[in-house]
Amino acid sequence: MSGQKVALVTGANKGIGRGAAEQLAARGMTVLIGARDARRGEEAAAALRAAGGDVHAVTLDVTDPATVREVARQIEERFGHLDVLINNAGITGSGQVSPQDAHDQVPSTVDVDMVRAVFETNVFGVITVTNALLPLLRRSPAPRIVNVSSHAASLGLNSHPDGPMTALPPSAAYSPSKSALNALTVQYANELRKDGILVNAAAPGFVDTDSNNHTGFLTVAQGAAVLVRLATLGADGPTAGYFGADGPVPW
Ligand code: NDP
Repeated sequence: MSGQKVALVTGANKGIGRGAAEQLAARGMTVLIGARDARRGEEAAAALRAAGGDVHAVTLDVTDPATVREVARQIEERFGHLDVLINNAGITGSGQVSPQDAHDQVPSTVDVDMVRAVFETNVFGVITVTNALLPLLRRSPAPRIVNVSSHAASLGLNSHPDGPMTALPPSAAYSPSKSALNALTVQYANELRKDGILVNAAAPGFVDTDSNNHTGFLTVAQGAAVLVRLATLGADGPTAGYFGADGPVPW
């Protein structure tokens, strides 16, 4: 096996995932940009290659197990192992980012099919991708898994009557999907601790991307920094944690 470090970032054709891909490439890793649209993935990879990174696109829809299996096969064939998996692909709701989208998630009136669609990508997709890639991660000397969560996942922050999350409309879809992702993070971390695989959840903060119609105040580079920190932890680094830019976030 070559000593070259290989990272896969899902949903990395734009936004925070692309920012993380850029930063990992700048650290000398070979980075695979997972994109459900091959053309968008290739465009992002070409731009990062032009900036000097060893970056390649792979076609990956986290809700389509056939594409996930194919990506695992390609990584096995080309590299034989995987060092870093960042489960970043995520959706906020119907895909139409607008005040209506947030209104549509209010628990008492939500369409359960929308909740299912959000969980399909943000939760079940993570299980599909992680399980397909674990055999390749196990061949790395220092495997790291980062699940991209959100401060909106925090039950502690959400249940505080005067907490920062009360500024957001109540949500039966996005926030619970990320809380479920946090729960999964802990369960994976506990299973994989004995194998030296560190698994943590990252809360990037409110980042200027398409997912919030560019209302976020952090840059993509600022939001991606915590993903990259957790993707490059040393052997004594934490596992089963939930971190933002300023340190641990309350569960
Ligand atoms: P963007 O909408 O900019 O990017 C989301 C990425 O996920 C896109 O590349 C998108 O692909 C991809 N994606 C969506 N569904 C799938 C799928 N089924 N399979 C593969 N890729 C998919 O959003 P952000 O960069 O803002 O979000 C990235 C992550 O960060 C998400 O998990 C989000 O929940 C989380 N987050 C974001 C925050 C923010 O303030 N921006 C705050 C907290 C968390 P495509 O281009 O094809 O749509």
